[in-house]
Amino acid sequence: MTKWRKHTQAQTAADDLVKRLRKIGDPQAKQLAKNLSRCREDDPCGSLACRLCREQVQGEFIEAAFRLWGEESFVTALTIISRNGIVEEGHLDGFDLNALVRRDRVRLKRLLPEGTEALGFVDVSLNTFDNANPHWCFHWHICVRGELGKAELRRLRSSYRHDESAGIYRAVRAEVIGTDELRSVAGYCVKGDFKRRSGFLATPRSGRNPYRDHREQSLSKREAVELALAMGNYEVLAPLMAISLKRKRVNWPLAIRLQHIGARVSG
Ligand SMILES: [Zn+2]
Repeated sequence: MTKWRKHTQAQTAADDLVKRLRKIGDPQAKQLAKNLSRCREDDPCGSLACRLCREQVQGEFIEAAFRLWGEESFVTALTIISRNGIVEEGHLDGFDLNALVRRDRVRLKRLLPEGTEALGFVDVSLNTFDNANPHWCFHWHICVRGELGKAELRRLRSSYRHDESAGIYRAVRAEVIGTDELRSVAGYCVKGDFKRRSGFLATPRSGRNPYRDHREQSLSKREAVELALAMGNYEVLAPLMAISLKRKRVNWPLAIRLQHIGARVSG
């Protein structure tokens, strides 16, 4: 168990959320507020809606990635958006996170070379473009052991497609990094704070073509509550994806313990 990380900002955000949920007053919101307000270092609530538990899991994720691949030369940092992760704002109650995790795990296992180890986590943002078409975008940040070749990236890109109607302009991003950056890249996979991502068309001064840019902003109170109520249905480790890795059972509800399984198939 890594040390419980106490960030004042996180604690304040967690307290604010509890207050907002209490104000809503419906039974589901009340119950969630009750669970979250009871979260303690020695008895974590373990809810995905809990900022404190997510930050703790972030630390666990970093340590897990480092234990697995700290001695490697390279890791590939992947970001993947699948069409299944796009949900219209206001409709999160019908979204099945577990199904997303299951489907993408099967899909990625098939797309990656046999035996490739990967460890990822779901992130979510509320995306808009020119303040229109607000939608939740559940997407993956994944660390993959080693370097992915061009053919492998092509396979990923032909499966996860660009889809403008869903606001997906780049479905797959990949960057090979040295493992000296592993901690910061792994830390990026698990978010404590979820954001609104406001896209717009930026016009360069030089007269070149306009390009898509975005700004990250905080979620509004209403948006944060919608997300928390949906997240409150899941355990904090529900968005974890482990491929070609064996998960060890540990008593601590926030622990991520993984082992290599078998040798990589070469050639
Ligand atoms: Zn908690």
